[in-house]
Amino acid sequence: MQAQIDLSNCDREQVQYPGAIQPHGALLVLDAATLCIQQASANSADYLGLPPAGLLGQGIEGALGAAVAADLRERLSAEQLSTSFTRLLAVQSPGGGQACHVFASRTDDGLVLLELERLDQAARVGAPELYPGVHLTLQRLQSAPTLAAFFDLTVAEIRAITGFDRVMAYRFAADGSGEVIAESVRAGLETYLGLHYPAADIPEPARRLFSLTWLRHLPDVDYAPVPLVPERNPLTAAPVDLSWSFLRSVSEMYTGYLRNMGVKATLVTTLLKDGKLWGLISCMHHAGPKCLPYEPRVAVECLAHMVSLLMAGKAAEEHGGYRLALGAARARLLDALLEADALPAALIETHADALTALDADGVALLADGRLSLLGKTPAQAEVRALAAWLAGRSELTFVTHALAADYPPAAAFQAAASGLLAVRWSHGAPDGLLWFRQEWRQVVHWAGDPSKPVEIDASGAEIRLLPRTSFALWREAVAGESRRWLDCELEYATELRRGIAELLLRHTEQLRRMNRELAASNEELDTFAYAASHDLKEPLRGIHTSVEFLEEDDGARLSTEGRERLATILRLTTRMDELIESLLQYSRVGRIDLQLQQVDLNEVVAQTLETFAPLAARGATVRVLGRLPVLECDRVRVGEIFSNLISNALKYNDKADKQIEIGCDDGASPPVLFVRDNGIGIAEKHYARIFQIFRRLHGRNDFGGGAGAGLTIARKAIERHGGRIWVESVPGQGSVFRFTLAAGPR
Ligand code: ADP
Repeated sequence: MQAQIDLSNCDREQVQYPGAIQPHGALLVLDAATLCIQQASANSADYLGLPPAGLLGQGIEGALGAAVAADLRERLSAEQLSTSFTRLLAVQSPGGGQACHVFASRTDDGLVLLELERLDQAARVGAPELYPGVHLTLQRLQSAPTLAAFFDLTVAEIRAITGFDRVMAYRFAADGSGEVIAESVRAGLETYLGLHYPAADIPEPARRLFSLTWLRHLPDVDYAPVPLVPERNPLTAAPVDLSWSFLRSVSEMYTGYLRNMGVKATLVTTLLKDGKLWGLISCMHHAGPKCLPYEPRVAVECLAHMVSLLMAGKAAEEHGGYRLALGAARARLLDALLEADALPAALIETHADALTALDADGVALLADGRLSLLGKTPAQAEVRALAAWLAGRSELTFVTHALAADYPPAAAFQAAASGLLAVRWSHGAPDGLLWFRQEWRQVVHWAGDPSKPVEIDASGAEIRLLPRTSFALWREAVAGESRRWLDCELEYATELRRGIAELLLRHTEQLRRMNRELAASNEELDTFAYAASHDLKEPLRGIHTSVEFLEEDDGARLSTEGRERLATILRLTTRMDELIESLLQYSRVGRIDLQLQQVDLNEVVAQTLETFAPLAARGATVRVLGRLPVLECDRVRVGEIFSNLISNALKYNDKADKQIEIGCDDGASPPVLFVRDNGIGIAEKHYARIFQIFRRLHGRNDFGGGAGAGLTIARKAIERHGGRIWVESVPGQGSVFRFTLAAGPR
């Protein structure tokens, strides 16, 4: 049977209950309440002169003397004894054996573990020498310029203190795999620097133990485990939890693994950052077994504590210059945006430098439906689809170094963009910035094949895992991944997002306020124009009728000159009436509520054309090109718009054969309608003027006269629909007036 199984199966192995210890010490398990010996390691005679049988059921005084018992009692009552082991007194064993260090720790289930380790006289004597060395090291660590230098120094010092053949600093990545980031190694041995270890090489239970205790020591990989007698604890009727025991027997997986690497002894300390396992310092001996005495072990532990504390500061300094540059770029950009009135459409073009301060291969800006790309990015359509996907997510900042894992369509463009750092201004809209990083065909050196299952020995009833037998250098090209984004990059993007979102909010509020003010003043103007024209009409009508009466009654008595003057007054009042009427209509268009409904423009145009009949008599042909759309609009207003444009097309036309075409441009959104003529045309410089009220380009009576308000009223009706109108013309050949009835891109 060759099951598909890998080292993660080791995750299930109960490493904290081995029921045995390593032989470089002895273990006594006591009942915390009575301090009675309940279990002893089988090698107890070597340390205490008595085999387990002679110890079990005895009080601790008998085995270790009154002083140790008193110390232990005191610590237990003062609750000083925690789960992490504490060194008690050094004792001369009553059985005449050698003097020992005694360490005590308590378990969660009411037991006390006493661990004995022989005193090493040479180490005791040398201990005071360790202090100045550690002190100097701490000073040098503090001034290490970079994180790399910091760890180079750490491993070199630890090797100097311990004399191990190899000391490595090992850093975990987010996925649990690790990398050797610093190494000090005896000359002649192969280097492991830069090697990556798959996550499965340090299974989860081992990780947990690493974060519980600072130090783990394995003096001899080929040791014979020493069992506890009896195997199960009489009090708990279960194997003892040896999580905090430093003598704990290790997993066979681990020793097998080390043997494959040619390692004879190890010492591992933990590096914690913000209370979490950040990495390890791993010491290895290849020449033979190596037992590190208590004193240098404490020095290493002390260094590991200090390194963990100092490391946080060093890691923050790691990208200091870059972090500063990003901060400055962000400030520059936000300042510029504060001044700008267009937000943030012109962002990329004008401030590309501030966006490219972030170390990315390409950047995309999506603003008001417009997409701008800079550098290496996926294609327009791909970025739009990606932005739409992001808009459907709840978070406003999205970061990944393997985009296709979250967003499978990205596999199609992973060479250009495996990494993505994206921010959006607000929920529900795709507008925002996207930074892309190319795929990093990073060649990683793996110490073992991370994808290859380890060999399984299924000969026994139980599945047993065998460690890998081959540690040939594995190279794995990581496909679909980019370099990872740094914390300071993420910070830059999120801060920039916040700044822009605030500016946008301020901007929209400003716009809203201006619109409100504008609407109010427009309304006022319309009301005024309406009132004024309405009020003016009456006296004007009075003047007109009076003059008519005067002419009727007394015309014969007046001189020719007098009659002509009366006629002029009548003509002028008529004209004034026309102007006032136009003004009234104009103000009405602004005041009325639009009656919006689905309107078939074919019908509207057909009805409008009827009012111009008979066209043939005027030498005109009007054609509607294709089908006009059905749109949501105000039927009456749109009828007036067409009427005005058609009437102008007929009026400003000196051709014998007047051709007028009405239609709708293909594919535009919103639909663009047009009225085209082959008339006199309009010079470009007058394009704006013709839409102003009472502006005419011709003599008062040329081309049938007119008040000069038709186009202004049409424009107002169009703008009330949210649309716009514009003209294109060739003088002498004709004009085309185009308009929309809804808002859309300019
Ligand atoms: P009116 O027709 O009453 O003068 P409009 O506002 O409709 O007022 O038009 C303004 C001016 O624009 C017109 O006086 C004319 O000079 C010019 N104009 C409008 N339509 C056309 C057209 N189809 N061809 C040429 N000129 C035009």
